[in-house]
Amino acid sequence: MIIDAHTHAFPDHIASIAIEKLENSSKTRAYLNGTTADLLRSMDRAGIEISVVACIATAPAQFNSILNWCQAIASPRIIPLPSVHPESQNAREEVRKIGEAGFVGLKLHAEFQSFYLDEERMYPIYEEAMNNGLLILFHCGYDISFPDSDRSSPDRLAQVHRDFPQLPIIASHLGGWRQWDRVLHHLVGKDIYLDTSYTIGYIDQDSLRTILTYHPPNRILFGTDSPWKDQEEEIRLINSLDISSAFKARILGQNAKELFRVKN
Ligand SMILES: [Zn+2]
Repeated sequence: MIIDAHTHAFPDHIASIAIEKLENSSKTRAYLNGTTADLLRSMDRAGIEISVVACIATAPAQFNSILNWCQAIASPRIIPLPSVHPESQNAREEVRKIGEAGFVGLKLHAEFQSFYLDEERMYPIYEEAMNNGLLILFHCGYDISFPDSDRSSPDRLAQVHRDFPQLPIIASHLGGWRQWDRVLHHLVGKDIYLDTSYTIGYIDQDSLRTILTYHPPNRILFGTDSPWKDQEEEIRLINSLDISSAFKARILGQNAKELFRVKN
């Protein structure tokens, strides 16, 4: 079973606007039109059983509409991650609602939500997620739309992990896009999930080899960042890695199956 632990999609009525806006800010072309229907077609082409769809609330008021949409798209093939905004007056309560609604976790993005991973303002959200058994998927490292910002660096994430060791964390982009040296120094070997989204093909071979050798093999997840990468091509890249087929199977699905508590 192949599980893509990091994708994005949008409600049908805003998908084309959202994609166009993000294409302009990132100067990157999307492979899909941003709808869940197109994501499912891509999954079928690539042989992907399940995709995790990560949402980002860019304003506090978006919480309810994102939660409702996540409930609407949840299915045996789509695992949505809702989002809360750090400036929300009800952030703790909203995290609890995410848990009560049966989701496995939430997504936070330091750039689009203007926070630093390790700032104290965020700690009630982390604590509430941890207490409710929810995981947090963090954008990590530089973002292509915010090339100089250091809000979500590996050292900041390591601090969060030290302060909330029981909080399940997925650090996207193998822990820190284009901050690989700091990933090696601060994250490798820790009890933190690293996803491969938007990474293979950017990371240097030495850093990649070090991560694959020294990070726990059950803490690496296949992710694509679709629609910003092609799912089929990203599977090919994982399969081309010089690691055992058992390890590839762990990365491509087994680890996510365990983390997201997928049955059968
Ligand atoms: Zn992403």
